[in-house]
Amino acid sequence: MADVSILGAGPAGAWAAYSLARRGARVALVDPTHPREKPCGGGVTGRALALVAGAFDIAALPACVIRTARFIDASSRAGAVVDLAAAGLTPATSLVVASRTSFDGLLLAAARDAGAEIVAARVTDLVARPGGFLIHTTSGSHTAACIVGADGANSLVRRRLARPFRRDQLSIATGYFAHGVTGDEIVVELVDDPPGYMWSFPRPTHLAAGICAQADTGVTARTLRARVRDWIHEQGLAPGARLEPYSWPIPSLAPRDFDALEVSGPRWCLAGDAAGLVDPITREGIFFALLSGEWAAEALASDDADPWRRYRERVRDEIGSELARAARFKASFFRPRFTRLMVEALQQSAGVRAVMADLVAGRQSYAQLKWRLARTFEVGLAWRLFARARRRA
Ligand SMILES: Cc1cc2nc3c(=O)[nH]c(=O)nc-3n(C[C@H](O)[C@H](O)[C@H](O)COP(=O)(O)OP(=O)(O)OC[C@H]3O[C@@H](n4cnc5c(N)ncnc54)[C@H](O)[C@@H]3O)c2cc1C
Repeated sequence: MADVSILGAGPAGAWAAYSLARRGARVALVDPTHPREKPCGGGVTGRALALVAGAFDIAALPACVIRTARFIDASSRAGAVVDLAAAGLTPATSLVVASRTSFDGLLLAAARDAGAEIVAARVTDLVARPGGFLIHTTSGSHTAACIVGADGANSLVRRRLARPFRRDQLSIATGYFAHGVTGDEIVVELVDDPPGYMWSFPRPTHLAAGICAQADTGVTARTLRARVRDWIHEQGLAPGARLEPYSWPIPSLAPRDFDALEVSGPRWCLAGDAAGLVDPITREGIFFALLSGEWAAEALASDDADPWRRYRERVRDEIGSELARAARFKASFFRPRFTRLMVEALQQSAGVRAVMADLVAGRQSYAQLKWRLARTFEVGLAWRLFARARRRA
């Protein structure tokens, strides 16, 4: 019997397994899919890289270091380029973009080397019983004293032990991998319908381009993907490239959902996407998957009488509160009035560009965002933008 069975070997599960195995726990990490690509931008922020830096040589990760971020306001077609190096970011603190085959593969190898047992099977069911769980998989059944559900947005653990995400708590992300094209610039077009952005992220052998919309808006993945295809052509991002379509759900919670996160119970906890820990504005999920995986391991390996409660409180207090702030901010973030103003401010102010660079690299908290923007925003620039907005109105 394993002390801990971890279901799902994405960043949350592999990192929880690594962190637990290094603390001497007997860990089984169950996932049938590796090596595999995951439909994802593959943007790994400096703060995410810092978490895993001790586990493997970051230089061994085939990745594109992003040097510039181009922002386009869909309503005015105006654009601005943010030079991340000029804003003070180094390759170690900036954003890198990697294929998830490579990134998740390195994490899995680190977990294996640390002593976790890798079980290449799909979990088909799990049953709570005295002292633990009976876990049924496609390669047989085993027991575990406790489980970590790191099995993504469609989490079986979540469905069995908590409750599945409602449709309004999910968004659908869809787009294309454009093969044979790469670079060192991300392109982000801010749109208000659906509120969010279209993106193009260069990986070593292809671009990942996509769009995201709340699942309950009624718009289909097909319609969204057609829009991405038009955008790729219109922006000249990948002339002649073979386009491979993808679609995948992302948890996209509202402020009230973050305030009431249900991420653990006796002998079980959820981490990463299964717990709903994705930034509703940037859709950054890899960092929160790694962090929650690490915190799950820390709680389980502690001598706390109730590690499940300790984990739940930490996630709610430190991640939930920050993501709730992002979710509240989101309502105004993608309005044309704001995005137009933001792109104009990016064109004109090095201070605002530095704030945006830090947002891209995951170094800017939402708690401090308004305050920092207010401090950065020069009075003259604010006045010019305000006057222009009034003239337009
Ligand atoms: C299109 C798109 C773009 C994104 N772009 C970015 C980005 O640029 N940067 C960023 O930080 N985040 C991004 N995200 C979010 C990011 O992909 C996720 O937040 C992150 O992968 C979460 O990691 P995880 O380990 O929780 O789950 P996952 O990475 O989804 O891993 C879950 C694992 O569980 C396994 N599993 C599922 N069910 C079972 C089962 N029954 N039995 C065994 N194993 C099972 C799966 O095979 C999978 O390997 C994006 C997401 C999407 C969809």
